[in-house]
Amino acid sequence: MQLSLPSLLKRNGGTAPRNGRQAPMPPLEGPKTLMAIMAHPDDIDFTSAGSIAKWCAEGWTVYYVLATSGDKGTHEDLSRQELAAMREQEQREAAKVLGVREVIFLGYPDGFVYATPELRGQVVRLLKKYKVDVVLTWDGFRSGFNHNDHRNIGIAVRDAVYPAVRDHLYYEEHLAEGLDARPVNELLLAGADGPDYFVDITDFIETKVDAILCHRSQVSTRDRDETLKRQRQQGRRRGRSGNFESFKRVRIGRPPRLQQNEAPAAVHQEAAPAGASQSSS
Ligand SMILES: [Zn+2]
Repeated sequence: MQLSLPSLLKRNGGTAPRNGRQAPMPPLEGPKTLMAIMAHPDDIDFTSAGSIAKWCAEGWTVYYVLATSGDKGTHEDLSRQELAAMREQEQREAAKVLGVREVIFLGYPDGFVYATPELRGQVVRLLKKYKVDVVLTWDGFRSGFNHNDHRNIGIAVRDAVYPAVRDHLYYEEHLAEGLDARPVNELLLAGADGPDYFVDITDFIETKVDAILCHRSQVSTRDRDETLKRQRQQGRRRGRSGNFESFKRVRIGRPPRLQQNEAPAAVHQEAAPAGASQSSS
């Protein structure tokens, strides 16, 4: 059976684009298992701690994966080992504030993360092991200035999500550990040029600030009120009250209701929730 794109979207609970613009799409419904995979301790919390706090409060299971322990990020007289240990501790404290289940460090040297087959395989293995539904990472393809590690972890994770984690002939050695291929159909990209998915964190902005302030080696001030004021300014959206974190949402794979049918092999779409055509944060 061949279905048109509007039919596919309708069956998937969404609506078709009108006049070249994405029509409203439903928000991510939970509770789900989410893995946030970024480069350095503090990356996830500065971009996404409000959303993480919200999802944890809603019963989601959230894991953090950091490619490095941030062993170059200081102007202080510290060794790389001292700094890495400090930043791992800061990240664990922040994760605890938010309700994150577990923090995993992959141990790559800060500044030298590359999208290698090995890194992709490590990510694929974690996605299988923890049965992840939603992945949050950096947008590796953003234009303009981007940190080497942010770019490369974003690319490695995106390549892990599609198609390596879902096709069993990739990383066949995982089968010996009892880890099966599985689809991961939702990707949220932080730091994207054109965010189209906005999470209202108004009720969680103070928790976000508490998490950010755990990163003592990385913040310019430990003043809670000042940090709160700055975060409130950053999270504004034009024409909207409240505070938001912004992502680009990528949906991968065929809609669940079509799995029984001989529909087109895959639907790749980038969805926009209600009011997502404006972006100001
Ligand atoms: Zn970073």
